[in-house]
Amino acid sequence: MKYIIGTNNPKKLIELQRILSPLGIGAVTAKQEGISLDDVEENGTTFLENSYIKAAASCKKSGLPAIADDSGLCVDALNGRPGIYSARYAGENATDSDRILKLLDEMKDIESSKRTAYFVSAITCVFPNGDIINAEGKCYGEIAYKPDGDGGFGYDPIFLCNGVSFGKLSPEEKDKVSHRGNALREFQKKLKNYLEENNVNK
Ligand code: IMP
Repeated sequence: MKYIIGTNNPKKLIELQRILSPLGIGAVTAKQEGISLDDVEENGTTFLENSYIKAAASCKKSGLPAIADDSGLCVDALNGRPGIYSARYAGENATDSDRILKLLDEMKDIESSKRTAYFVSAITCVFPNGDIINAEGKCYGEIAYKPDGDGGFGYDPIFLCNGVSFGKLSPEEKDKVSHRGNALREFQKKLKNYLEENNVNK
């Protein structure tokens, strides 16, 4: 069966497809199906709620099972900010580098032992019959004082996991430890069980 991936973020899509393909899941974007998600308001109060909003809208508009991720960076010294507002942290039309510079500036006086942070990824799949599968993954680390590496996307160049910037990791290395990798591994297990229990063809 074909699944819709409810995202407009091309780099996130590549990560999702890379981790879903071993399950034999054929994924297409909402855009490839001619569906616009521009009118979908991410007005939930948690990552899981927002992933549900995006997946449910994609499923409703396409009639296909839909998978969506909602993710972000939570910084302990900022009481969990930017959190669910990670994409909008520096305004609507800001770039990844605008967001990185804003965060580094906000944290310039925070000492190294207090720079702990974690990424969260919530994944939800909504089926046309209303069934829902979801999973959440985290990755703990610290915010660096300056960007390092140009791999990945978003806040990757300033997120240190085990002391190494996400921006320096290969895609495979990032998948092994990342919030999205952790969420998708749990999601894979749940989806596999669901498909077997319901005798649904992949
Ligand atoms: P979303 O599209 O609303 O889920 O926005 C998530 C935002 O969080 C992205 O625009 C990135 O800024 C950030 N983010 C989420 N996952 C990652 C990641 O794996 N690396 C770096 N930044 C991420």
